[in-house]
Amino acid sequence: MCRSLVTGGAGFIGGYVVEHLLKEGREVTVLDNLSTGRLSNLDAVRDHPRLTIRIGSITDPILVSEVMQGQDEVFHLAAAVGVKLVADDPVRTIETNIFPTESLLRLAVQGGQRFFLASTSEVYGKSDQDRFEEEDDLQFGPTSKPRWAYGCSKAIDEFLALAYHRKFGLPVVIGRFFNVVGPRQVGNYGMVIPRFVEAALRGESLTVYDDGMQVRCFAHVSEIVKCVVGLMRCDNLDHRLFNIGSDSSVTIRDLAKRVIDLVNPELDINYVPYKEAYGHDFEDVRKRVPDVTRLQKTLGFKPEMPLEQILKATIAWKKEAMAQ
Ligand code: UDP
Repeated sequence: MCRSLVTGGAGFIGGYVVEHLLKEGREVTVLDNLSTGRLSNLDAVRDHPRLTIRIGSITDPILVSEVMQGQDEVFHLAAAVGVKLVADDPVRTIETNIFPTESLLRLAVQGGQRFFLASTSEVYGKSDQDRFEEEDDLQFGPTSKPRWAYGCSKAIDEFLALAYHRKFGLPVVIGRFFNVVGPRQVGNYGMVIPRFVEAALRGESLTVYDDGMQVRCFAHVSEIVKCVVGLMRCDNLDHRLFNIGSDSSVTIRDLAKRVIDLVNPELDINYVPYKEAYGHDFEDVRKRVPDVTRLQKTLGFKPEMPLEQILKATIAWKKEAMAQ
């Protein structure tokens, strides 16, 4: 039987990866310290006979080498995530995102595991390209602005993974996630859709930062997971690095309006300056749209669930969660 390790398996995306792998018939081990992950993300599979959950940190070298034993593949999703959280604690971001990735890669070379590295569109930094392509230059802000610590730490992870591929032939796949959303995502770490949906369902106005003309593309988590697992099952990949996300864009102001239309047309939008939301030294990314040609050519599909459907699914889930 094939065995998969999912670090960050109790996270929002991780929970869906675990469900998918169990459905495929795999034996799955989750390693998660429940810092931002929650066991409730695994509610549907918690008692599954092929699932083992280990609560602990990827910064614990003994635990990490123990859980790597006997695995066939690794989905490395554990990381410090969420722009707000990351801006608040850059030390933790760097420590969680860099050293553990390196030890996992080293163990994967020894154990011969396939390796998926979850990266992020944050690595493109504040590039003002219309669409971000995998081979584009990365453009970070200064080190005095903590926001860039996240993208930079993930860029180092990518360098490490590609170096292990080149030097040791480690079969790695790197996915740069763009905005991933859907049921079970919580708003605590700054993510915009759960925040809008929660506010709207509570009958409060929606807080939009700055002028709301920032552009993002939102993909449903189930489609993202199909891409991740699909790439890991491809033999003879021409590339190791892929943008993974929707390429259908929306401004944050329009997003707020769409949530309002779906939940309660009486609600207002409250525009708040960035410095009130994130502190004085925060820089946002104005536009973030992926070029997903490489993904589509490789897999034959790309995430395309319409925003309307994603919002409806998220609202329905949140309504139910709030009623409990
Ligand atoms: N945003 C907002 N209100 C919120 C949370 C976020 O207007 O309550 C904006 C944020 O400034 C950004 C966009 O929505 O421009 C997406 O934010 P999120 O944190 O979800 O993702 P990221 O910034 O990583 O794309």
